[in-house]
Amino acid sequence: MKLQYPQLLKQQSYVDGHWCDADNGKQQAVVNPANGELLAHVPMLGAAETQRAIDAAQAALAKWQALTAKARATILHRWFALITQHTEDLALLMTSEQGKPLAEARGEVAYAASFIEWFAEEAKRVYGDTIPGHQTDKRLLVLKQPVGVTAAITPWNFPAAMITRKVAPALAAGCCMILKPALQTPLTALALAQLAEEAGVPAGVFSVVTGDAQSIGKVLCDSPVVRKLSFTGSTAVGKQLMAQCAPTLKKLSLELGGNAPFIVFDDADLDAAVEGAVIAKYRNAGQTCVCANRIYVHEKVYEAFAEKLAAKVMALKVGAGVDDGVVIGPLIDAKALEKVQTHLHDALDKGAKLLCGGQPLVGNFMTPAVLTDVTSQMKVAHEETFGPIAPLFRFHDEAEVIAMANDTEFGLAAYFYANNLSRVWRVAEALEYGMVGINTGLISNEVAPFGGIKASGLGREGSKYGIDEYLEMKYLCMSV
Ligand code: ADP
Repeated sequence: MKLQYPQLLKQQSYVDGHWCDADNGKQQAVVNPANGELLAHVPMLGAAETQRAIDAAQAALAKWQALTAKARATILHRWFALITQHTEDLALLMTSEQGKPLAEARGEVAYAASFIEWFAEEAKRVYGDTIPGHQTDKRLLVLKQPVGVTAAITPWNFPAAMITRKVAPALAAGCCMILKPALQTPLTALALAQLAEEAGVPAGVFSVVTGDAQSIGKVLCDSPVVRKLSFTGSTAVGKQLMAQCAPTLKKLSLELGGNAPFIVFDDADLDAAVEGAVIAKYRNAGQTCVCANRIYVHEKVYEAFAEKLAAKVMALKVGAGVDDGVVIGPLIDAKALEKVQTHLHDALDKGAKLLCGGQPLVGNFMTPAVLTDVTSQMKVAHEETFGPIAPLFRFHDEAEVIAMANDTEFGLAAYFYANNLSRVWRVAEALEYGMVGINTGLISNEVAPFGGIKASGLGREGSKYGIDEYLEMKYLCMSV
C-alpha cells in the first residue's frame, strides 16, 4: 500500500489532539482481507485512555459551542476539501483494510465527505422558534443547543461514511465527539482524524480511540458526561449498548441490522429491476445493512427475472479490490464467509436451486450467487445474510407479498419495482420500513433521512433532520 501522502497512514490513536499509544503498549494488527497481508498496527486502548478522551471533550466543549456556527462550518468545509483532495489515498486505505473495490471506495469517500459539506451548511440553519404566548404577558421561545459531549461506535462495512455522518452533525451542532471505529477498519478512521486536525478541528473536539470494544464501550456508556451515543452495527450489540446507556439516560441513535425485501411486480420494467437488484444486492459484496436480503418476484415474471439476473451476476468480476474491473471483493473475514456459506447450504438442503455462483474461493472470496425456489423456511428469509447471495422467492399477489415483506423484526430499507401508480402508493405506504426505494436500488445520500424502525433502530442520519439528534430544545417562558 503506497500512499501519495504517507501521513495518512496512522498507527496511533488520536486523543485530545495528540497521537498516542495504549498505556500498556498493547497493539492490534490490521490485515488486508483480500490476502491476509499485514497493513499496520493500531493501539488497543482501554478504559483509562477513553476516560481521558471524555475529559478532553468536556474541556473543549465550552469553547467549541461558543464559536459561531459559521466558524464551525468553515472548519468543516476545510475538512471536506481535504478529504476530497486525498480521495485516492483514502480509497486505497479503505480498500486495503476493508476489501471493497477501489471504485466503490472512491464512491464512499465522496459519500463520506458529502455529510461534512452538508452539515457544514446545516450548522448555519439551526433555527429556534417563537411561540404565540398563552397569556398576554408571556413570551415563549425555543432555543436549540448542542447536546454536549457525544460518542460514536461504528462498523467496518463503511469505514468512512458511518463516521462522517455522525461526526459532521455533532461538530456542526457544537458537540464534541469520541469515536470508536471498528477494529477491522481503524486506518480510514485515523486518516480522517489526521485530516480533521489539519482542517483545524481543535484538540479534544474529536478524538478517535481504537481498541477493545467492550471496555471502551462501557466507559462511553457509563459516563454521565457523555450525553449521547450514536451507534451503527448489529441489533444485538445495539440492544446491549441501549441497556448500558439506561442508567445515565443517554440520547441514542441506533442504526442496526436490516433484512431488506426487494419486490418485483409483474408490471415492473424487468431490465431496470435486474439492474436495481444487482446494485441493491451485491454492492460491497452484499455487506451493507440496506442490501436486498430477500428478493420477491411475481410468478408471471419469475423465470425471466431469474434468468436475466443470473446472466448479469455471472459477469461480475470477483477479486482483490485494487484489481481492474473487480466488482465483488472479499468478505471481511473467514467468519463472515462461513456465515454466508451456512445460509447458502441451508437453502440448498431445504430445496433451493443454485442458478449460479456460491463457490468459496481461496481467501475470503465467494462467487456471487443466485438462488431460486427459495421459501420462508430457509435462513435467508429471516436472517441478514450480509453476503453475495440473491435468494428469489415467488409470490402470487400484492397482499401476500406485503405480508411476507413485513414479516420480520427489522425495518430498515425496502425496495420495489412497479409501474402502476395506485400500486406504487399502496405498497409504499404498506411497507413497514424507514426507507423505501421505488424503481431504484440505490437510496442513500446525504440529503435524505437514513434510518429504520422496529429492530433496525432509532433516529435518522443525514438530511435536515440529522442535526436534531445532536441538539436539545430549550423552552424559554418570559413574563413581560
Ligand atoms: P458487526 O457484526 O458489523 O461487526 P457489531 O455490532 O459487532 O457489528 O460491531 C459494530 C461496532 O460495535 C464495532 O465498532 C464493534 O467493535 C463495536 N462493538 C461490538 N461489541 C461491542 C460492545 N459490547 N460494546 C461496545 N462496542 C461494541
